[in-house]
Amino acid sequence: MSRNFDVVVIGGGPAGYIGAIRASQHGMKVACIDQWVNRDGSNAFGGTCLNAGCIPSKVLLESSELFHRAQHEFARHGIRHSGVTMDVATMQSRKASIVKQLTGGVAGLFKAGKVEGLAGHGKLLSGKKVEFTPISGKPEILEARYVILASGSSPIELPVARFDGERVVDSWGALDFSEVPQRLGVIGAGVIGLELGSVWSRLGAKVIVLEAMDEFLFMADRDVANEASKQFRKQGIDIKLGAKMTAAKVAGKSVKVDYLDKGGAQSLEVDRLIVAVGRRPYTDGLLADDAGVKVDARGFIEVDKECRTSAKGVFAVGDCVRGPMLAHKGSEEGVMAADLIAGEIAEMNYNVIPAVIYTSPEIAWVGKTEAEVKASGRAYKTGSFPFSASGRAKAMEQTAGMVKIIAAKDDDEILGVHIVGPMAGELISEAVLAMEFSASTEDLQRTIHAHPSLAEAVHEAALAVDRKALNFPNR
Ligand code: FAD
Ligand code: NAD
Repeated sequence: MSRNFDVVVIGGGPAGYIGAIRASQHGMKVACIDQWVNRDGSNAFGGTCLNAGCIPSKVLLESSELFHRAQHEFARHGIRHSGVTMDVATMQSRKASIVKQLTGGVAGLFKAGKVEGLAGHGKLLSGKKVEFTPISGKPEILEARYVILASGSSPIELPVARFDGERVVDSWGALDFSEVPQRLGVIGAGVIGLELGSVWSRLGAKVIVLEAMDEFLFMADRDVANEASKQFRKQGIDIKLGAKMTAAKVAGKSVKVDYLDKGGAQSLEVDRLIVAVGRRPYTDGLLADDAGVKVDARGFIEVDKECRTSAKGVFAVGDCVRGPMLAHKGSEEGVMAADLIAGEIAEMNYNVIPAVIYTSPEIAWVGKTEAEVKASGRAYKTGSFPFSASGRAKAMEQTAGMVKIIAAKDDDEILGVHIVGPMAGELISEAVLAMEFSASTEDLQRTIHAHPSLAEAVHEAALAVDRKALNFPNR
């Protein structure tokens, strides 16, 4: 006998579990199936984000940043100490504890919201039936009025550098090192490469990053990317651009990495190698042949702008569909799908999804880069303000970077905001809100910002767009 639900969600990451909770807030009977198994054999909701992505990486970034500042910055404040050491085991157990609290929190939210959390594999059959196979036990058929697919993504594995979980690892492996490698190789100067490269570099590893593209952070605004590149190099991270890995071979306790650059064939030797060359949509075993859900050539589930798939009543959200692979993008899609199922009007504004890289300095942006605005043909103006002129940034001893705003010449609409500097990931929210409300730079100029605050840099950058900056000479 099958059980009936209003909504069955397959995948309990930030896209799926948030969609499940929102559907339950609408009074619907909801089940959320997730197959995640942690290294200790336990099941946990929260997906990549909570178990092996956003959260553990930010925990390690915080710990390593404090260690780095204690070593390199405290003396300037007059704080003397007789030597700081890092206990990697304690750092890792703090990380594990935070992950456990948050994944346990999802289970608690399910209980409170009467979402039935089911640990195991979900497969969409035809007619909105879902085959649920528990971790141990027999498969059962669930019948749903609506299904939300939220199966996420997995790291891309290169045939020339197979993961062995020990010397050649993906991002999950790199979050779990039990000691600081002396020499760390990173393939890909993308978001993961920079964040995890920073963690281990701050803890003492000599980090070499190989990036196939000639341009650093090609998706970011050039001014921001150039400043970030300068800062990372100052920190001793060796980023080699135009360097394409051709082979990685483990020999004893080291890895020999071959790569090609302008100068021809090169090689280097490291103790561990992180391969972070992107992620691919994960849909293994998700869809029966007659499920009626189309998948595109790159493996993404095809959806329209409301996240509806080609099968009636079946939605798909998060990393398994087009768009940036970001937790907050997936969560908002989950909310939209649940609201649409409940008969409400709902939409996503894909133009104002913030991106944040949690390095030091942090990098954050929303909207178009200057190059994109230029290519669009719309006349524009820009303004920027350096953190070196911010009193708060000076007090924090974090003066690298700036805020840059791009606005339309005709109606002053804000088209893009790009920040590299302290707390950029927090500061960007003001820009997101402004752009969500179609604000002009004049709206930001006339908004009172607390003094002294980092947010004043956003205010001043808005003023600088019209050459009215007050605390920095206008150019
Ligand atoms: P996932 O989180 O991948 O969850 C999908 C879930 O579905 C998994 O638990 C999986 O086991 C389960 N599943 C899959 N198929 C089935 C099936 N057939 N049956 C049952 N269960 C199934 N994003 C940010 O926004 N900010 C960050 O700071 C950030 N940091 C990151 C750091 C790292 C190291 C990594 C790897 C990623 C990071 N991301 C970050 C990206 C973020 O983790 C993803 O965008 C996000 O997790 C996607 O959410 P999702 O729900 O679509 O998929
Ligand atoms: P990415 O797409 O950000 O970067 C991958 C990089 O690897 C690219 O610059 C690419 O040019 C390079 N590359 C590809 N093949 C290569 C090769 N053979 N040799 C050298 N370089 C090569 O991917 P990622 O860093 O793996 O991250 C995956 C996803 O996870 C991202 O899309 C991101 O959205 C998400 N993520 C987000 C955050 C965050 O929001 N802070 C943090 C981590 C991950």
